[in-house]
Amino acid sequence: MVPNVEGRELMREDRGSVLAERTLVLDVGYRPLSIVSVRRALLLLLADKAEVIHESQNMVRSEKLEFFAPSVARLRYHVGAPYRRRAALHRKAVFARDDYLCQYCARRAECIDHVHPRSKGGEHIWENVVACCRICNVAKGDTLPEHSRFRLRRVPYAPEPIVVAAALRRGAPPEWNIYLPNLLPLSA
Ligand SMILES: [Zn+2]
Repeated sequence: MVPNVEGRELMREDRGSVLAERTLVLDVGYRPLSIVSVRRALLLLLADKAEVIHESQNMVRSEKLEFFAPSVARLRYHVGAPYRRRAALHRKAVFARDDYLCQYCARRAECIDHVHPRSKGGEHIWENVVACCRICNVAKGDTLPEHSRFRLRRVPYAPEPIVVAAALRRGAPPEWNIYLPNLLPLSA
């Protein structure tokens, strides 16, 4: 567990890579709130503002103490509803959202397709981009959806910013998936 006496000293001593990792912070109701540095999470834990839900496999060590870094922590107090921004559009996160599958034919996706083609005024926004295989991408070309034989398997949507942030972290720990149901770990 996390020490509550010598933590600040420890954080000055240990500037190793473990403290550069990230902790998923949940609210009182176990909903994902933010992704913070392990260092920031330790401060919350030391101040008794949060509790550890999952530990990582990585040890934080100092001369006097060693313990596992927190991978998931839960706040002990209520916070106001977070201000919901729109997540910036990331190519990698589009692949994650769409399970790395072409949204027209379900083959492995290799590129991004604009449903309503950009050449015909389609926007570069979450709701107009899908993961796509090269074959469908070339065959569809700049045909408008209403004139095309290509049908989407599901309607593209804008994911929550925290889900995008988690998806963009290479090697996000599997225990995060429990709290981020839309998260699909990035394999590429
Ligand atoms: Zn396809």
